[in-house]
Amino acid sequence: MKQISIIAAKGGVGKTMLTAAFASLAKNLVLVDCDTESRDLSVFLNAEYKEEQKVDTIQRVAIAEDECIRCGLCKAMCHFDAVINPYGVYQIKEEHCQACDLCLNACPVSAIDHVKSEQNKWGVAATRFGDVYNAQLALGEDLNGKLISIIREKAQEQALAEAKDLVLIDGPPAVGFAIASTIAGVDVAVLVLEPTPSAISDLQKSKQLTERYEVPMVCLLNKSDLNPEMALQVKEYCGENEIPLIGEILFDSLFIESQMVGQTVVEFAPDSETTNLLKKSFEAIL
Ligand code: SF4
Ligand code: SF4
Repeated sequence: MKQISIIAAKGGVGKTMLTAAFASLAKNLVLVDCDTESRDLSVFLNAEYKEEQKVDTIQRVAIAEDECIRCGLCKAMCHFDAVINPYGVYQIKEEHCQACDLCLNACPVSAIDHVKSEQNKWGVAATRFGDVYNAQLALGEDLNGKLISIIREKAQEQALAEAKDLVLIDGPPAVGFAIASTIAGVDVAVLVLEPTPSAISDLQKSKQLTERYEVPMVCLLNKSDLNPEMALQVKEYCGENEIPLIGEILFDSLFIESQMVGQTVVEFAPDSETTNLLKKSFEAIL
């Protein structure tokens, strides 16, 4: 069984559209949707939920006002300025708290405790290509990595139990979000890139990240005909840095037309040049 992550340095480069197109080319797969905010892949594939579960996570700490004796020890201990005392009432500023537990262990009257959050969810839904695992992050939380690890593990379990050939992972909207959890242990990370002015720095950033986690990276150049000069620079950079360029996809209005009827471009136009290019690119990563 192979695991492939499709990633992008920033949003809007066609990553999810291309992942969906690859899903329609694969025969025996499980999908993972790592966009914990909008679950774009699941929405695009019109996924129907089979199961959804809350994730019981420890989220920060809280002070019980009526138990606090106002000694100020927690505020003195905290390295992150996360304890405030407006009007003499000690409180935790959630966005600063790193859950290090120093204050919790120091409090002489045990007035500080963990707060559990049950608003994060993971789920599995059926699509016409196979099941997709996804997650939903509660507003303001930063447990992306944990949720992505959970859904990747669930997808892998199903893939092994059902002898699937592939776990295809649609990465988060940009590499800055939980990239370690998205690419750890995969066979290859496919960087989707457009020939924009930031393309070379996007390549450099993604190369550094994938090298840090010892994951081989290949590049797929989308809409390469929109800026031939920049596309050439991308190809030169890939050549100089031994990053395999697995394909170039040209701008094609078929992507929009297929999206409007809820299909991938492969389903909508199976004999088109774009589908042929996608097939060749997909074969290059299998
Ligand atoms: S858990 Fe750590 S970071 Fe959070 S308030 Fe207590 S000491 Fe500060
Ligand atoms: S250490 Fe405990 S008792 Fe002291 S101010 Fe903090 S919460 Fe209150």
